[in-house]
Amino acid sequence: MDTNLLDFLEYHKIDKSDIMDAKGLSITEIKNKMKTNNILFAYNTTPCEKSGHTIRDRHSHCIVCNTAHIAFMKRTKATGYVYIAGSIIKNYIKIGMTTEDPIKRIGKLNSRKVGNTNDWIVIKAIKCDHVNMVEIDIQKALQKYKVEGEYYGDESIESVEIFRCKYNKALETVENYFRDKQINKKEEKTYLFNIEKYNNFRNIVNPKYL
Ligand SMILES: [Zn+2]
Repeated sequence: MDTNLLDFLEYHKIDKSDIMDAKGLSITEIKNKMKTNNILFAYNTTPCEKSGHTIRDRHSHCIVCNTAHIAFMKRTKATGYVYIAGSIIKNYIKIGMTTEDPIKRIGKLNSRKVGNTNDWIVIKAIKCDHVNMVEIDIQKALQKYKVEGEYYGDESIESVEIFRCKYNKALETVENYFRDKQINKKEEKTYLFNIEKYNNFRNIVNPKYL
């Protein structure tokens, strides 16, 4: 690594384990290696179109031209809670993630009326690494139950995380995911013990997936 590169890594607090040397490797080889080893960045890549920089993230963005990608990529490694919440009014289950206290997070969802309701209760939360990835994968596994077109104002980025299924279905999906991927649970919290009401929901498959 040359001094410029080392300075750049140091300035942006990029850990050595998060970057690899792409020299002599094809783009496919680089991408595979990054994915398998969960490496966020590569140097000695093909030069960027704009200025010829050779440090890119896993999605091929030049991280010198746009340093915002650095924080974005680092967040994918964050430790936090993936949680299951429920709404009795709507018969909705929500899978989400947060790096703060899940109870605090749920308070925000209720004050913003996510899913057009404010009776969200967090039922279970599991602390783990790479929580962004875990959240996205679990949401994908449940996607046939996904609620579509339930918007709530302008910042509707979270509407995709709502599902029409029983709590037990969501729990089973979460547990299977952690087991199959052998992901370490750093902490597990159950906030609600009388979950029967949340198991009276129906599993409603989006016609798209029938
Ligand atoms: Zn660049």
